[in-house]
Amino acid sequence: MLNWFSKGKGREAPAATSKEHWRQVIGDLEYLQKVHARSHPWLAGMEPGATDADFTEQFLVHFHQSMTAAGITSLPLDAWRKEMEPGFRARPFSRYEDPLTHFWLQQMQGQLEQSCQRLKIGLPKQPVFGSLQTGRVNGVAADVDNPSYYLILIDDGIMGFANLLSKVAAVSFPVTQAEDGNLNFATDRDSVVRQRLQSPETGMRFFDLLTAYAVQGAPHAAQSYLMTTHHTHLVGVFRDAMEFFIFGHEYGHCAAGHLQGAPRMSLSMAAEGNGEGGEIELRMPESWEKELEADYIGLALAMDVMRARGYSPNLSYAGVELVFTGVDYMQRTLSILEHGVEQERLLDTHPPALIRREVMRQNALGLLGEEAGSVAGDLADIVNDTLEYHWRAVAPALARMHADGYRPHARWLQKAQ
Ligand SMILES: [Zn+2]
Repeated sequence: MLNWFSKGKGREAPAATSKEHWRQVIGDLEYLQKVHARSHPWLAGMEPGATDADFTEQFLVHFHQSMTAAGITSLPLDAWRKEMEPGFRARPFSRYEDPLTHFWLQQMQGQLEQSCQRLKIGLPKQPVFGSLQTGRVNGVAADVDNPSYYLILIDDGIMGFANLLSKVAAVSFPVTQAEDGNLNFATDRDSVVRQRLQSPETGMRFFDLLTAYAVQGAPHAAQSYLMTTHHTHLVGVFRDAMEFFIFGHEYGHCAAGHLQGAPRMSLSMAAEGNGEGGEIELRMPESWEKELEADYIGLALAMDVMRARGYSPNLSYAGVELVFTGVDYMQRTLSILEHGVEQERLLDTHPPALIRREVMRQNALGLLGEEAGSVAGDLADIVNDTLEYHWRAVAPALARMHADGYRPHARWLQKAQ
C-alpha cells in the first residue's frame, strides 16, 4: 500500500469536497513534483512560495494586470475576480506549478467532464489534473492508491507546444473573408501549396519551435509572432483539439480501468533536513494495447467537446492528428540533435506516434462514419503533408546544429527515478 512520507499504511478517503481531501491531493501532487525536481537538477531551485491563499490572490492580481494591459479584459479587478475565481478554486494550488497552466487545466477538465456525461463514460474515481515536467510530449495518468482520486499529470510544455504547432499548421491554409463576414479557408491541395510558396517564413517558425522545445527545453523560447485575426480562429481550433485529445487520452486510461492492476512503480525521496523523505507508489498503464484504447476514448472525448463548442469536425480531427505529427517531429528532432541522424527513438510506454496516427485514422472512420471520416482524413493529410514539406528543410539544419555541438536539453535525456 501507499507509504506516504513514511507515515501511512494506505489512507482512508475523506469526503471529496473536504479540506482533508484536498490536503491529500495537493500533498500527493507536490510530492511528485518535488521528487521530480530532485531527479532533474535544472528544477532544483524550485521552492514553494507563499501559502495557497496568498498565492492565488497574488496570481489573480497579476493575471488581471496582464489581461488588462493586453486589452483582453476591461473588467475591474473585483468583477474579473468573481468571473475567474471558480476556475482557480476548483482545486487548490500546488505550490510548484505554473498558475496559468493550473487555471487552463481546470477549465478544460470541466468541459471534459461534461463530455464524459454526454458519452456516458464513467470513471471509477475522480481525476485531478496537475502539471509536471515529464520530458514527454504527453500526459501521464497515475493511480496513487487513494480510494478517491487519480492524478493526471500534464507536461508543462504541452500547451505552449500545441499553441505554436497549431500556428504553423493554421497558416498553411489561405483564408479569405466573405462579404457576409464569414471566414473561408481554402483546403484544396493547390491553394495550400501556393500558400506554402508564398510564406517561406512558416518553415523557419517550425524550425524555431522544434529547437526551442528540444534545445532550450521550453516551446515559448521560440520567437513570438502575431497572426492575422483570420488565422487566430483556426489556431484555436487546432490547439484546443490537440489539448482535449491529450487530456482525453488520460481520461481514457482512467475510464478503461488501465490503472487497476497495472504494475506498481515506486518513487522515493531520501529524508533531508526538514524530515521530508518517503516513498510513493504509483500504477501506470503499461501496454501498447492500452495506449491505443486510451487514444480511442480520447478521440471520442475530444471530438465531442469540439462539437459541443460548435467547431467543424474536420478541422477538429486534423487538430487531433497534429498531436501525433507533432510528437513524431519532436522525436525526430531529438534524434538528430542527439546522434546527428534520424533513428527510431522509442518512447518507453507509448507506441510510435505514426502508428498511433494510423490507428487513429481507422478510429475516425468508425466514429464519424466512412464518408465524413475520409473527408476529415483528407484535411489531416494536407496538414501532415505541409509539415513534412517544411521538415525537409528543417532536418538538414538540425544536422548542422548537431555538428556545431547543440544537444537536446536535459529535460529530454533524464528520467525520473
Ligand atoms: Zn497513455
